[in-house]
Amino acid sequence: MRFVSPLLKRVVYPAMHYAGWLGRCVPSNGCLVVNYHGVIPPSPYCRHPFLDENLVSSAALQEQLQFLKARYNVIEAETFRGWIGKGDALPPRSVLVTCDDGLQNNLSDMLPILQREGVPCLFFVTGESSGEYPGMVWYEELYHLLEDGEVSYRDVRIVFETDGPDLRDDSLHEKWWSCVMSASRLNAHVRAEKIGLLRSKCRSTAPKMSEGRWMRLNVGELRQLAGSSRMSIGAHTMSHPVLSQCSEDEARREIDECKAELERVLGQAVWAFAYPFGNPATMGTREVDLARQAEFECAFVVGGRTVEPAQRFLLSRTHVTANMSLAEFEAHVSGFHTRLRAAFGAATESWV
Ligand SMILES: [Zn+2]
Repeated sequence: MRFVSPLLKRVVYPAMHYAGWLGRCVPSNGCLVVNYHGVIPPSPYCRHPFLDENLVSSAALQEQLQFLKARYNVIEAETFRGWIGKGDALPPRSVLVTCDDGLQNNLSDMLPILQREGVPCLFFVTGESSGEYPGMVWYEELYHLLEDGEVSYRDVRIVFETDGPDLRDDSLHEKWWSCVMSASRLNAHVRAEKIGLLRSKCRSTAPKMSEGRWMRLNVGELRQLAGSSRMSIGAHTMSHPVLSQCSEDEARREIDECKAELERVLGQAVWAFAYPFGNPATMGTREVDLARQAEFECAFVVGGRTVEPAQRFLLSRTHVTANMSLAEFEAHVSGFHTRLRAAFGAATESWV
């Protein structure tokens, strides 16, 4: 069924988009949730073929926001909170815009576009942004370390005491993900120390460390974002591990401490949570219970099919990726793509 992918992308979705059919798939009540990760920095930045798949260009973001404003009612996070918690009414065809990970570009490149378009956004940031020097997201740094080749996969396996299969012949992506799973089992401080040890062996990754693309917001920048009109902050754990790999105590600490730290530095309630990575392979019922016990009012996954008060700790989101055309964006946001996948089962996984 793989041959269908270009057909959907290039023929079916554009035809449905321009004919206005995708818009008819959207239920008039309830809410859709869109999930970004930030904006690709302007030239001369050289785009990373894998790690930048989650970021969109400034032009694409602007086009997508203008589309949402024209066809939907983009609501503020507090409006969503009133609906999910108290059953307040929502306007028809409501959409909530969210953005994960708290990269610096959320403030420097994404916020100006959101403000120019008058679109509110709920940003999910890690608790490490409550510090002065949060640095890179650790799993992105790990990818650079493996990619640059100054440390071998074997070195990384030894440092993280990986007990999984030796993926000597597998792709960089598979090796990296195996290391991410192993590293997630460590306490965040131990993990940071071990990555520091690997970093000290790699001179070629040092320039990347100073590039703004890879940096997270520090506390001053976080306060600036939180203080911007119609922008809201939610929690995304302290260090962004794969929660299902953490011990229960560590997973609880990652969730509880993030809420407490963000509330401390921002002086406001942090009521929404987004599970790191946010798919069924990285979280489950234990993480849902922990988010509820931490007294969040709701929690978001990536993907999924429902956004309703009865499932407020498993709220689905449409993940926006770098190469989506506007037609593909609408096919995903409207829920048509998800329903198509559900109807045709796993065979459709590889379609798009
Ligand atoms: Zn994330």
